[in-house]
Amino acid sequence: MTQGTLNQQSQVTNEDSNTRGTSDCESRILDGFATRSVHAGYTPDDNRDSSSVPLYQSVAYGMETAERGDALAGGETAGFSYSRVANPTVAVLEQRLAALEGGSSAVAVGSGMAAVSYALLCAAEGGGRIISPTDLYGASVDAMETFFPQFGIHTDFVHDINDLAEVESTIGPDTRAIFAESVANPSTEITDLKPLADLAHRHGIPLIVDNTIPTPYLLRPIEFGADVVVHSTTKGITGHGNALGGVIIDAGHFDWANGRFPQFTANELVVSDERHGQWHSFASRFGKDAYIRRIRIKYVRTFGAVMAPFNAYLSLVGLETISQRVRQQTVSALAVAEHLRTLPHVTHVNYSGLADHPQHALAEQYLPHGVGQILSFTVDGDETNVYRILDHTKLFSYVPNIGDARSLIVNPSRITHREVPEVYRIAAGVSDNLIRLSIGLEDVADLNADLDQAIANAY
Ligand code: PLP
Repeated sequence: MTQGTLNQQSQVTNEDSNTRGTSDCESRILDGFATRSVHAGYTPDDNRDSSSVPLYQSVAYGMETAERGDALAGGETAGFSYSRVANPTVAVLEQRLAALEGGSSAVAVGSGMAAVSYALLCAAEGGGRIISPTDLYGASVDAMETFFPQFGIHTDFVHDINDLAEVESTIGPDTRAIFAESVANPSTEITDLKPLADLAHRHGIPLIVDNTIPTPYLLRPIEFGADVVVHSTTKGITGHGNALGGVIIDAGHFDWANGRFPQFTANELVVSDERHGQWHSFASRFGKDAYIRRIRIKYVRTFGAVMAPFNAYLSLVGLETISQRVRQQTVSALAVAEHLRTLPHVTHVNYSGLADHPQHALAEQYLPHGVGQILSFTVDGDETNVYRILDHTKLFSYVPNIGDARSLIVNPSRITHREVPEVYRIAAGVSDNLIRLSIGLEDVADLNADLDQAIANAY
């Protein structure tokens, strides 16, 4: 076995994450969400007393002695060796996000799509099936509908992920994951996580949740039974539209050796000690951590969509203000949604945070502080009116992103959901007359005034 293979494990041993977590908790009070967003996963004394997290812009790390190199490579000792597998700045972000979501461990990756793809492939690899709604970010639908099948992984799309009878009737012997967005992009429909997790667990299947839109400030799916949470950290977590990234967070309670997942119980050289004839599977070596170890050791190490240290650094800076940003943006988004409803030419506003929304009870149960900064609305007329609105906004930036400090506007059917088959798009409410907004930190009166004039000028 090569050193480059085995020393990946050294950065991800239980001892490593547990020791850091414990020393952090012992020396600080890390109860509150805002406190964790500023402090979790980092101890200045271990970093030359730097108060802010240092940027470790290094590819490799000295292994010091041949003996330590061997122990690192064999996963017997904790430490860093090569940044494709783990990096000290990225590791702080991983621990901080795990702490914020209430997970046991996390792996950061190069984008939200890398997080979604790795999380689903790791559960379903080797011919498994996924159950998912189509009410999702466009590239996630495209991955499951057209691309994963090229690797022998298929998705059973359900009409309504909250219809438990429909979901249960779709479960088969090859089902390996149920996937949903906690708050869907761009409909803002809420997934009823708790009964869905219970149903999944009755069948020995994990619930994997994309929690990008609410961010952990508004909703923590693990508290409602989710097994794995993914994020595009590009959005509200980083919050300033300046760093692409993703993360996979493991709750650490799913049994991957329950018989449904042969990839976790087959012996593999990468986690074994061939010289001493000691063979292991991911499950036998890592137990409840088998999934997150496989993400790092197989997916990140071999597919290589690693998060850049500088992006992790920017995400850490962004995270320090997540509570203040998302709280303010959520208040503003509700105000914009209410204002849009009063405007001529606006035919419908999609925002599950509205008091008379059919999902109001779910919003109160899962998202008592609001459903986030994303909303969408339809207008009358045809697509030329949509184009004119987009072309007339002065404050909203016309860009395919969300979760920025700036307010953003986009037409999903042509841009973010272009690759979604029309039948799925229409079912998810993504018509050509739909416009999505991501509300930033500007004054809400200015945002409303911009929408007023853009809509008035479009007809
Ligand atoms: N998940 C959701 C809900 C998203 O909205 C997006 C992007 O908009 C992604 C995943 C993909 O994220 P990224 O652009 O960081 O790959």
